[in-house]
Order: sequence, then structure tokens, then C-alpha cells
Amino acid sequence: VRRGPATNGVVVEEGAQAQQTARWRPPGRLRLDPSAGAVLAFSLGPEQLRVSVANLDMRVLAERSGALDPDAPAAVSLDRAAALAEQALAAAGVDIGAVIGAAAAIPGVIGRDGTVVACSALRGWTGVAAGDELARRIGVPVDVENDANLAALAELRRGAAVGAADVVYVKASTGIGAALVLGGRLHRGAAGAAGELGHVQVRAGGAVCRCGSRGCLETVAAVPALLDALEPLHGPNLGVDELLALVAAGDPGTRRVVKDAARALGRALADVCTHLNPALVVVGGELAGAGEPYLRWVRLAVEHWAQPSAVEAVEVVPGALGPHAETLGALALAARAVQV
Ligand SMILES: [Zn+2]
Repeated sequence: VRRGPATNGVVVEEGAQAQQTARWRPPGRLRLDPSAGAVLAFSLGPEQLRVSVANLDMRVLAERSGALDPDAPAAVSLDRAAALAEQALAAAGVDIGAVIGAAAAIPGVIGRDGTVVACSALRGWTGVAAGDELARRIGVPVDVENDANLAALAELRRGAAVGAADVVYVKASTGIGAALVLGGRLHRGAAGAAGELGHVQVRAGGAVCRCGSRGCLETVAAVPALLDALEPLHGPNLGVDELLALVAAGDPGTRRVVKDAARALGRALADVCTHLNPALVVVGGELAGAGEPYLRWVRLAVEHWAQPSAVEAVEVVPGALGPHAETLGALALAARAVQV
């Protein structure tokens, strides 16, 4: 293994050991030495804080998580996140001095400088310089990016969207967010607000959304709306895991509610497909955990409502990386393995 001051021991030459005895050898491919440092990923909200420590190959070494109160001041949650990072580093046996980068996923509109421009999921976070605030607490620079954008980057790098250039990724969970990859590049928009699919208007005069508008897609198709709709059948304590189990068990009321939500999402995605003509729609987030029935209902709505040539070009597939795709994207961003 070749190490030199120019690389700080972080870069190794692939296949170098096998070639060490040769007098002359062609230059090998350079890659990051996975043991030479660590990266940190924060996943903040809407209801959970999660901190992951990984090596430079993005193999997770330790994770710590805790509840996040979306109504608490941002400073309280940021302190908690920094404490979890300390615990995760200790559990991984990694010194903070070995951390070469950190990134955080937040469900909101994020400015170029890591400031939260708008975040309806976490009240009290709007205007908070989340990157600077976390960096000050842990002593390492922290990049901040929208959660759906990071999940999309992870799916592009090693998931369901490898090799695709025109991709719409949608995260359907407590909120609904999308990431738009156009011509191989993440499209963030003029203010970082591209892909706010959850706030597309689907019901004139509908319920007031936490964003301040009315009748947004989130008010009919995100997890809280489904749990509210099922309260008369399954009571006030139903959680998303139980909801997914009821879908799998064929519970008629739950399937009906989830089907209606999938249709509403698919209808909104159909318009996105007509506008952007993607080759792939990747569906992730907690509701994607309902599996093929949910995906099928989304797909049927896309096929029904999108322009026919857009329908012909597009495939609607589940995410391959599960609910923690955003964490994998944040780790890749922290290791500078992806660009945003
Ligand atoms: Zn809204």
C-alpha cells in the first residue's frame, strides 16, 4: 500500500500489493482507503434523530438514534444530535480526529450554505444554519442536504437507479418529498425547493397543511393522513408498522385507505412524468414498505394520468436501499463520493 504526504494516507492504489515485486508497474486505480478515516451521517426528523458512523467504504460501524420532538426548539435537537454522535463514535471506537467529513439529511428546503430555508416538518428550524450549528457542536464541517435528495443520490450510486440519468425519487413517509435527477444531475431549483411534491395541490379547499396551504398531497397521502383515516377502524394508537402489517394481512379498510393514498401520489407523479419524462420513478420511504400492492396502485395511476409517451418511457420501481437510503446518501456526501 502506497502512502504519501500528498494523500494523508487516505488514498490507496488498487491491486498495489500484488504488483509490489514488479520492477515496473502500470499505475493502478486510486480509491479511498476504507480504514484511513471515518464519516458521520445525521438523519434529522421528522420524529427521529439518527447518527451513523461509517468507514470510507460506507460500511456502517455504529449507529445511535433517539426521538426528536418536532415542536422542540432546533437548538435542543441539535444538542441531542451532537450527543448521539459522540456516543456513536465511542461505540465505533473512532476518534473525532479521524472523521474526514459529515453530512446531515433534513426534510426541508435547504439553502446552498446549509441553512434551513423552509421546513414544515420541524417547526422552529426555519432560518437555522443547521450545518454551522452541528459543525460548532462536533468540531467537523457538516454538509446539509434535503433528505429525499440524499436518498436519491444513494439509489443512484448503489441502489435502484444505478446508471439512470433521468430519475424522479419520491419519499412517501410522514411527509412526501421528491428528488429530481435530470440529465444525470440533481436539480435543486433556484432556492433548493425543487421536488416539494408533498405540497402540490390535490384538493381545492382541502385540509390545512402544516406548510400553511390547503389541500396539499401530504394532507391526503402521507402517513399521518392514513393513520387519521384509519382511527375509526383501528383506534388512535395505530403506528406505521402496524399499518404495513394490516396491508400485508389483507385488512380491507387499511388496503382501501392505502390504495387511495397510492392513487393520489401516482396522480401527482403522473404530472411530474408528463413534465419531465423520466426513465425511472423510484418509490421509497416508509409507505414503500407496503410492497407491491402499494407500488402497483402508484404505477396504475401514473399510467392512467400521464401523457402516453411519458408512460411508455417510465418504469415505477421500489427503492432498493430501504428506509435508510438518506443515511447512505449522507455518508456518501460526507465521504465526497457523490456530488449535490
Ligand atoms: Zn403543504
